[in-house]
Amino acid sequence: MNAALASAIPAAELLTDPAETDLFRHDVYASGPAPLCVFRPATVESLATGIGAATREGIAIVPRGGGMSYTGGYLGPDRPFLLVDTSALTRIVEINEADMTVTVECGITWKELAAALRPRGLRVKSWGTLSGINATVGGGMSQNGVFWGASGGSLVDAALSFDVVLADGTLLTTGSAFFRPYGPDLTGLFAADCGAFGVKARATLRLVREGAAFAYGSFAFDTPEGVFGAMAAVGREGLAAECFGFDPFLQAQRMKRDSLASDVKSLAAMMKAQGSVFKALKEGAKVALAGRSFLDDVPFSLHTIAERRRQADADADMAEITRIVEGFGGRQIENTIPKILRASPFPPVNSIVGPAGERWVPVHGFLPGSRLVEGWAAIQQLFAENAAAMEAHGVQAGALLAVVSPQVSLIEPVFFWPDELNPLHRHAVEPAHLARLKGFAANPASTAFVGQLRKDLIALFQRLGAVHVQVARSYPLKAAHQPEGWAALEALKAQLDPQGLMNPGVLGL
Ligand SMILES: Cc1cc2nc3c(=O)[nH]c(=O)nc-3n(C[C@H](O)[C@H](O)[C@H](O)COP(=O)(O)OP(=O)(O)OC[C@H]3O[C@@H](n4cnc5c(N)ncnc54)[C@H](O)[C@@H]3O)c2cc1C
Repeated sequence: MNAALASAIPAAELLTDPAETDLFRHDVYASGPAPLCVFRPATVESLATGIGAATREGIAIVPRGGGMSYTGGYLGPDRPFLLVDTSALTRIVEINEADMTVTVECGITWKELAAALRPRGLRVKSWGTLSGINATVGGGMSQNGVFWGASGGSLVDAALSFDVVLADGTLLTTGSAFFRPYGPDLTGLFAADCGAFGVKARATLRLVREGAAFAYGSFAFDTPEGVFGAMAAVGREGLAAECFGFDPFLQAQRMKRDSLASDVKSLAAMMKAQGSVFKALKEGAKVALAGRSFLDDVPFSLHTIAERRRQADADADMAEITRIVEGFGGRQIENTIPKILRASPFPPVNSIVGPAGERWVPVHGFLPGSRLVEGWAAIQQLFAENAAAMEAHGVQAGALLAVVSPQVSLIEPVFFWPDELNPLHRHAVEPAHLARLKGFAANPASTAFVGQLRKDLIALFQRLGAVHVQVARSYPLKAAHQPEGWAALEALKAQLDPQGLMNPGVLGL
């Protein structure tokens, strides 16, 4: 252990036993070198002191939130580094209902934050990822992401200001706590930086009132033209709080994963928590009655949620969504999936592995509504060219689709393949679920093949002009910038982190 670190950081905040620190060198997809040790600060002051002490010794800093990413964002560089685990920084500093803002320490999870806000009828504008049982506000602000409240933008659109610990241990506040931007957008510069500019200690986020009335709609489509046309049109109208879909493969798989009994249980739990036992019983009965067979012959599916103050408004939005979707050949099916998901927005992350314990990795691209069909066709062409090798390696692919804004939607192909699980998977999956998985032997050949296919897919997304969140060490950012723009980012990095010690290598900096 480095003596300067040991004297600057309380022993209780340092993990040095390799049996404990090994977990931190694996992400959902890959593994990296071991850190010198893991630093789990209990306070923001300690975070700043520890970072300053490490960088004075020339030790690099790699921040980690919930560890739910798969783009190498916290897999360290090939040089000594301190892994900063933010999981003890979970305080809610202030819920300011008068000004509709919330300030939190960045290690809080989206699930914890939602639970604190819900009794007050509040939520953050974009309120988390499906991984929010573990994923943190700091991870979301540093990597960006989309899911809950996507109609309000991506995660970083909810940010007003950050308190960031810079490389020298200084604490910088990036902006006003109630309006952004006041002049050039410093908060925006730190958003989605993957920790390259500093470690976020606190975030002040915009609150909105949570909807009191919901309407749900699910639709089946026979063709990609239908589903993507409908997504783009629903996005343009801004009627859905969430609008997401599955391709035929993921559709079938989703049905294999969870039991109907767990659907009904999670739905009933939410309804009861909202104080409506009668509605809980009624909705639970409806879901049970619908079963899961309604999805048997569905090629593509799209699921939408309208969230408003009054039921009549939510119903009117859903009627309009239905009219639009039917214009693209969509036919209504049971709305079990959006109901279940909204009832349990941050489920256990058992889907981090496939139904039999296969390995899993998503790759995504954001494309404007007008280019979704072309994008989908190009991806299918890539898979067709690789069909024989995919079969030989036991690689299967599905896709998650989601509307993100009036301008853009997400296509997220997901690979499954046989290989053994890593310590992070075994840590994150519920023990009872883990015990039921068949599991697979080590299979480096198939994993290497997926690695190549993943690279080919990212290159394809680049040719399509797609953009990405979760850039980290996986998506090429430099190529998307004009030289002048990239030079500005490099100059900022040099100013904030002259020794290049803050998460070296992320963003390609
Ligand atoms: C089951 C599952 C479901 C998912 N669902 C979604 C989804 O719906 N939408 C979506 O967009 N993504 C999703 N993801 C991907 C991932 O969970 C998100 O990107 C999430 O935001 C990661 O947050 P985290 O706290 O786990 O960050 P980590 O994985 O710990 O870190 C992510 C990056 O942020 C940096 N970082 C973390 N904390 C800080 C900090 N305080 N300061 C500076 N840098 C920091 C890390 O260095 C790293 O580069 C999912 C993943 C899984 C496994």
